[in-house]
Amino acid sequence: MSEPLTGGCLCGAIRYAVSAPVQNLIACHCTDCQKASGTGASINALLPSSAFSITRGTPRVFTKPADSGNVLHRHFCGDCGAPIFSQRDNLREFMVLKAGSLDRHEGLQVVMNIWTRSRRPWTLIDPAVEAHEGNRPPARQP
Ligand SMILES: [Zn+2]
Ligand SMILES: [Zn+2]
Repeated sequence: MSEPLTGGCLCGAIRYAVSAPVQNLIACHCTDCQKASGTGASINALLPSSAFSITRGTPRVFTKPADSGNVLHRHFCGDCGAPIFSQRDNLREFMVLKAGSLDRHEGLQVVMNIWTRSRRPWTLIDPAVEAHEGNRPPARQP
């Protein structure tokens, strides 16, 4: 049995645990993620919200409509400013965890790039990885 997956913010005021396996990451190159992260993209893991629990502290929330038009709640540490996760207002069953906040990274890989139309010239994208100019396409039916 593997250890539970944990993570937190830069200062440690916010800590969390994830009970679902995390493997595939999505790099979002939208302009909001660039501003919010201070980098070229935010690298995210999509999780069922039921698999995520805050174990210490209370994140602050910043809410803004995203490039997709979806209203996005961005949860971050009010002390150190580190982004922790985002959630769509109309899709509370899922959440988007900021992968850099995780404690362990074995087995994680970026499998998709989205919003590459706003990719910055200094951001490298692996040409072997799936990329979309806008939002991710709807999930394929099994
Ligand atoms: Zn913090
Ligand atoms: Zn984004």
